[in-house]
Amino acid sequence: MSNLELYIHIPFCEKKCNYCDFVSFHANYDVVNKYINKLLSEIESKKYLANDYQICSIYIGGGTPSFIDSKYINFIMESIQNNYNVVNNAEISIEVNPNSVTEEKIKSYFNSGINRLSIGLQSTNEDELKTLGRVHTYNDFLNAYNLAVHSGFKNINVDLINGIPGQTPESYKKTLKLVLMLNIKHISIYNLIIEDGTPFKTMLANNEIQLPLENDILLMDKITKELTEYYRLNRYEISNYAKSGFECRHNLGYWSDVPYIGFGLNSSSYINNTRFKNKTNFNDYMSLDYTGYMISTNQNSYYDDVKIIDTKDHINEYVMLGFRKTSGINVDNFYNTFNQKFDDLFGTALKIYQGMGMINKVNDNYFMTENGLNISNSILSDLLL
Ligand code: SF4
Repeated sequence: MSNLELYIHIPFCEKKCNYCDFVSFHANYDVVNKYINKLLSEIESKKYLANDYQICSIYIGGGTPSFIDSKYINFIMESIQNNYNVVNNAEISIEVNPNSVTEEKIKSYFNSGINRLSIGLQSTNEDELKTLGRVHTYNDFLNAYNLAVHSGFKNINVDLINGIPGQTPESYKKTLKLVLMLNIKHISIYNLIIEDGTPFKTMLANNEIQLPLENDILLMDKITKELTEYYRLNRYEISNYAKSGFECRHNLGYWSDVPYIGFGLNSSSYINNTRFKNKTNFNDYMSLDYTGYMISTNQNSYYDDVKIIDTKDHINEYVMLGFRKTSGINVDNFYNTFNQKFDDLFGTALKIYQGMGMINKVNDNYFMTENGLNISNSILSDLLL
């Protein structure tokens, strides 16, 4: 049976962070309750899509899944286990925020079969946390981390951001060191991007915040490289570092052409050569009747967007996502997927970037070098059909 991944979106947060452009908002108990009922009905109604698949990973993300009562997470887990063929060793992750996760919640997650916790810390510096608009402290994170370890979680990720307004290479180094000293198994480090429509965008325009200088960002990247290597975490994707065996299987699946179904507001699915985008508007999503989904003659009406992926699109996505991984693209896998040789399609551009030291080839894998990853977007634009 082929592998399939499941993603479940919980769009609720205590408060909106200053940099956030995700589909997330505050909601009361009643709204959460109604949303979960809709979500459960979607999960059940789409089970037939997964008839020929086994579920290799599940990811409960948001938003802030730990913001809602743990009984809802249990309902979701029960529904998936009852309706889908989940393999025994499936990776099952949940995102949590340090201040909304309690001992009761962490234990309940663990007992429901969740085996990977992703904690959104972002920084250990209290001023930087305030600037970001985070609602937790570094101490909240330490409590959450200790609870997770004592509850039995062995696979824990910590999310960090660099390039925060007011952040210096020294303060970033301190954050990274404090986290790595915990013997953390996985770390995701994202460069802050100021997105349209966020408070940061306005604050930047009004000169209320100042971003670190380009040189300082480069220094932070250098610190990341040195410290992660020192603590023996491998960079396996542009923004992700893990101890051997702790690479996030769910994300590796996204970058390796594994199909997935996303449930909930604004979620995306990729299955049977088609991409589906769930409703982004909350009321639109809530007005759907999923009990009639399977027999509906107009399934497209359940989505904001449906796109059939032709071979050209498929190759472009395969290359774009595959080069995010430091292992890059295996030419045999490429040939088996498309019946075309990778070198025949991209040989000229590959040679140029190999000559510049941006792309390397070892055995049957083409991958971006450290320098290549730093300018990956411009390289990728030359590797599109
Ligand atoms: S916790 Fe995450 S999803 Fe929620 S507002 Fe902050 S960044 Fe956005």
